[in-house]
Amino acid sequence: MQVRAKKALGQHFLTDQKVARSIVDALSSCPAPTGHPFPVLEVGPGMGVLTQYLLEREDIDLRLIEIDSESVEYLLTHFQGMQGRLMEGDFLQLKLEKLFPEQFAIIGNFPYNISSQIFFKVLDYKDRIPEVVGMVQKEVAERMAEKPGSKTYGILSVLLQAWYNIEYLFTVGSGCFAPPPKVESAVIRLTRNGRTSLGCDEKLFKTVVKTAFGQRRKMMRNPLKPLALARGKADILSQDIFSQRPEQLSVEDFVALTNLLD
Ligand code: SAH
Repeated sequence: MQVRAKKALGQHFLTDQKVARSIVDALSSCPAPTGHPFPVLEVGPGMGVLTQYLLEREDIDLRLIEIDSESVEYLLTHFQGMQGRLMEGDFLQLKLEKLFPEQFAIIGNFPYNISSQIFFKVLDYKDRIPEVVGMVQKEVAERMAEKPGSKTYGILSVLLQAWYNIEYLFTVGSGCFAPPPKVESAVIRLTRNGRTSLGCDEKLFKTVVKTAFGQRRKMMRNPLKPLALARGKADILSQDIFSQRPEQLSVEDFVALTNLLD
């Protein structure tokens, strides 16, 4: 018996075994030289197309979180060793610090309806998560990996690139899934870039990035004016950087901007 695909849960099951294998192979072996299997969390295993290959890897200590009880049933009956590894629940609600006292990696064919939220959560735990390998909508993958100057460069690009190197690995056509999604997909890999601090107030940095992209077609003077005024920094608004549009600014530019506003 197969799991019935539920649209509300973003269920598109990958059926191409070669693609599944490549995704699992894209996860580095043991990012930390501990000698122990490295903790890896699979988000949304579904019917286990990635899980089967992940379980073969001896360098991995696998945990799984799946929200769909029918998929959980399926995994429990079709795979050995799920007891104690597989949790039924919502990844977005998961207290990751309780589950993983130290470093861990994340892998998954992510449910596309919550992929941005998944990556915002990764950012919340960036110091514990050295690597993420995942499948997302092709446009989302492109946006994440995009450099400044492009139309699709946005909030997630800046915030993720501040902390991670992002590689667009390969595109996956909709025919590789059942049921096929309306859009193409892509596999990306995020690797922590080794930066331990940004050189500015990180909370303010997030606010500045989000506010600046609130009106992405405008010079940044517009969206950032209220913030500058509220901080008593009206005088800086005449500086050149405020005549640019947010999509032209690199991570370093946003750091400089944050320091101006601080
Ligand atoms: N990995 C499988 C399934 C991908 S579809 C495959 O490649 O075939 C996305 C999966 O994420 C589904 O199984 C869905 O039930 C699960 N999912 C959706 N929202 C979730 C959430 N908030 N937390 C955990 N799993 C979720």
